[in-house]
Amino acid sequence: MKLLEYQAKQLLKEYHIPVPEGFVVKELSMLSQPVQHLGGKCVVKAQILAGGRGKAGGVRLAGTPKEAEEAAKALLGKPLETYQTAGKGETVHSLLVEEQLVFQKEIYFSITYDRETQTPVLMLSARGGVEIEETALEDPESIKKVRVNPLTGIQEHHIRELFLFLERGKEGYRSFTDLVTNLYRLYVERDAAMVEINPLVILSDDSFLALDAKMIIDDNALFRHEDLVKIRSVPDDELQEVHAREKGLSFVKMDGDVACMVNGAGLAMATMDMIKHYGMEPANFLDIGGSSNPQKVIEALDIIMRNPKIKVIFINVFGGITRCDDVANGFKKALSQRPIDRPIVMRLTGTNEKEGREILESIGYDAFSDLREAVIHLKEVYQRSQRGGM
Ligand code: GDP
Ligand code: MN
Repeated sequence: MKLLEYQAKQLLKEYHIPVPEGFVVKELSMLSQPVQHLGGKCVVKAQILAGGRGKAGGVRLAGTPKEAEEAAKALLGKPLETYQTAGKGETVHSLLVEEQLVFQKEIYFSITYDRETQTPVLMLSARGGVEIEETALEDPESIKKVRVNPLTGIQEHHIRELFLFLERGKEGYRSFTDLVTNLYRLYVERDAAMVEINPLVILSDDSFLALDAKMIIDDNALFRHEDLVKIRSVPDDELQEVHAREKGLSFVKMDGDVACMVNGAGLAMATMDMIKHYGMEPANFLDIGGSSNPQKVIEALDIIMRNPKIKVIFINVFGGITRCDDVANGFKKALSQRPIDRPIVMRLTGTNEKEGREILESIGYDAFSDLREAVIHLKEVYQRSQRGGM
């Protein structure tokens, strides 16, 4: 889960890491007070999750209240297109209005996880404000990486090694130590997958301040960070997945147009393979789990139907712990709650298959027992839908 800049900076503040004074503005009418408070001069920053915002015009330095207003008008409520969201853009729902700072130098600093050594890695570069991928290509020598043993945590020597790499006098050392120590604590305690401060700036008194902040929280740890889940802002194309997670379904959106709903992760993978094998493209991975809960079927169909692209729906149930009659009941209930205007092909076999089929029959549906036969039929139905018929 990605955090917006102002959300990440709120966490930085909680961990005593210096950030510019700033205010979140969600409506134009709320702008003048913070701008006045900051003395007229400010930075207006679009709050979006995608990277490359500055280059796309999402960070504007305003010298007067009028310039701030113009910047806010140009950004708020409008889509901002960066290299990461080319062709689509991401709507700006909020702005961060900050004091304008003067600094000596911009550097890059981040903490991520290094899968190779299975340790957190601190990364520093004297080239701040530039994307780290770009630096890695053009000037890899300018990046310093220090790995931290997760059991013993961050030590003085890690910090010294990073600071020496900056080739600066000892003046800023105290401030740097505090910042790196606190950021590491934040990274661990909030289960971050990444915190990136780019740029980290050195002010005129040699102290360090986080001018920008990006933060990703490990999705698998969200259960212990309810406060962060509450403030989550979801990019449009991930809405389906987030909704599914909330309902306890395992869902991954794909690019195709054949939706599938399966019980069990392994069978769901095999089902996607079959769909591809017969020349179609899956619209999703969806595992409704091994439980026998008709409600899950209702929710699964609801999630599937949020994708306007889908042409056909394939339901593949291999009853074990999952009972076919429960799935059929969930399906029947889902249809009674909302009509589904796409063709549905089903394969149903295993525990309580007979009872399941009877329920399906009562609502005019039929199911295959054999997976291959079902997918071959799915293909015919799909081709028919391609030609415009049902
Ligand atoms: P990003 O492009 O989305 O990463 O946005 P950043 O918050 O990193 O801002 C981009 C650039 O704007 C920074 O690298 C700075 O050069 C500049 N910038 C942002 N805030 C200030 C500020 O308060 N004062 C000055 N002088 N420059 C700023
Ligand atoms: Mn930045």
